Amino acid sequence: MKKLLILTLALLMLAGCAAQHGKTEYSEADVFAMDTFMELRAYSDESVLQGAVELIKSIESRLSVTDENSEIFKLNSGQNDSVSHETAELLKTALSICASTNGALDVTIYPVVRAWGFTTGSYRVPGADELRELLGLVDHSKVGINGDSVVLPHGMMIDLGSIAKGYTGDEVAAYLKENGVSSALLNLGGNIHAVGSKPDGSAWKIAIRDPLGGGLLGSVSVTDKAVVTSGGYERYFEQDGKKYWHIIDPSTGMPADSGLLSVTVIGENGALCDGLSTALFVMGLDGSAEYWKTHTGFEAVFLTSGGRIYVTEGLVGNFTPLGDHASEKASVIYR
Ligand code: AMP
Ligand code: MG
Repeated sequence: MKKLLILTLALLMLAGCAAQHGKTEYSEADVFAMDTFMELRAYSDESVLQGAVELIKSIESRLSVTDENSEIFKLNSGQNDSVSHETAELLKTALSICASTNGALDVTIYPVVRAWGFTTGSYRVPGADELRELLGLVDHSKVGINGDSVVLPHGMMIDLGSIAKGYTGDEVAAYLKENGVSSALLNLGGNIHAVGSKPDGSAWKIAIRDPLGGGLLGSVSVTDKAVVTSGGYERYFEQDGKKYWHIIDPSTGMPADSGLLSVTVIGENGALCDGLSTALFVMGLDGSAEYWKTHTGFEAVFLTSGGRIYVTEGLVGNFTPLGDHASEKASVIYR
């Protein structure tokens, strides 16, 4: 059910003046990684962008839950109890989001995600008894980290799929900046990471997809920020006329059905935005609004199943409804 999320990249780079080192033209690279199509555009030399592609592949080979050689696979199968320093740091970040969202994000959800077939493509609806049993293996608070060694109780398994693309955006952005790039747009399968501004110094305009009509929901203007969307429409299967999607409510083991069609999280830290996009989708509008009021570092756009758009206060004057929603006024969530 993956789709090229090209629409999310609407209003791409217009011709501009010089970016870094006098670069006036961008290089492009497409890569299939983390089970999705990624599109990179950077005002840089081809060789720098090729380095970004290699970086993405190396992150994937560390974090993949299905690649038998990955650190996560070895951890989950009990072959290893230590991971690289980078992976340990990411796991710590992920676990802190799990804790702060009261388990709406739970990176130990993998036994359940696997039973639904979302990582393998062998889709099925697990029975209630099976889900109950598997949920006994889901509890982020039981994962311990000492330095780079991870304590994972027997049978439990970690899935960083909810945060990996946002983290990758952060890593690629840092790599590009280290290599003198001041203008780039990364579309990591719908996780957008804007590096710097457009070459002419203006903000990147990022479009958010409308899960209802397939058009656009709206746009936001950003510099140096991630724009990360989670929605049931991104990956799902149908059985007996019912849709089952890939974001699971850890309290039930069922696809999260909290009255939201999509959540877009915008902020400087891509990993945080990615983890939160998944968690807020599970929490629903009211829970998300409460969470936003007590936490900093991000803004969000919500589309409810009733078709209404809500934005957090920081997006007032920035979010522009588009497409079928162009004449609507988004409701604002105030602090
Ligand atoms: P995202 O597309 O960022 O919302 O992440 C969805 C992916 O994260 C799924 O494909 C699963 O691999 C995993 N996942 C699903 N539900 C959860 C959850 N509640 N907490 C953590 N990871 C999840
Ligand atoms: Mg996510």
